[in-house]
Amino acid sequence: MLKKIGNVTLIDLSDSDSNIYVIDNMVIDSGTGFNFNRLMSIFSAMKKDIASIEWVVNTHGHFDHIGGNGYFLNAKIAIHELEASILENGDNDMSFSEFFNGQVHPRNVDRKLKEGDEINGFKVIHTPGHSLGSICLYDEKEKILFSGDTVFAEGVGRTDLPGGSQEDMKKSLERLKGLEIAKLLPGHGAPVLENVKLAMDSISDSFY
Ligand SMILES: [Zn+2]
Ligand SMILES: [Zn+2]
Repeated sequence: MLKKIGNVTLIDLSDSDSNIYVIDNMVIDSGTGFNFNRLMSIFSAMKKDIASIEWVVNTHGHFDHIGGNGYFLNAKIAIHELEASILENGDNDMSFSEFFNGQVHPRNVDRKLKEGDEINGFKVIHTPGHSLGSICLYDEKEKILFSGDTVFAEGVGRTDLPGGSQEDMKKSLERLKGLEIAKLLPGHGAPVLENVKLAMDSISDSFY
């Protein structure tokens, strides 16, 4: 499935893949890597060369998001500094690759992100809770938030995996509620394109 949201393209390859977002020559999250042919045909339908992608920014180090990093041969790779070692060492435990019947191929990390950094015009917001190094990416001008597995249309990401924390998730939610968000583009499922504040309020109400 492919959906255009302004200048953002959302690609949803399968239920086990994270959403893949394409903005110019940047990709946010890359799916599992299992559906390469489908991704290739979507890119050719978009009249875009996969080799033209310059950056892959991972919202966190779980396999359903990083497994496909290898699709993008010419891209530089970015991830929060706390989860860079998952990629560098091919860490199958912290990435939960076995849960997905996959394996992480070690990959050099070109940029280790931290709170407040900016990458390709997006602000990095460190939002632990789902995992230690989970980030959201915020476009301050367009008020678009890429929320990874921190917040979805109807809830938050699970906090029971190693590195997850309910306390951290509460704090991260509080921070996100302080942002003006016009479009919420999560790591799985449908985007929220209107009434984001309402959705965020009901998510946090049901979480506490
Ligand atoms: Zn995920
Ligand atoms: Zn995850």
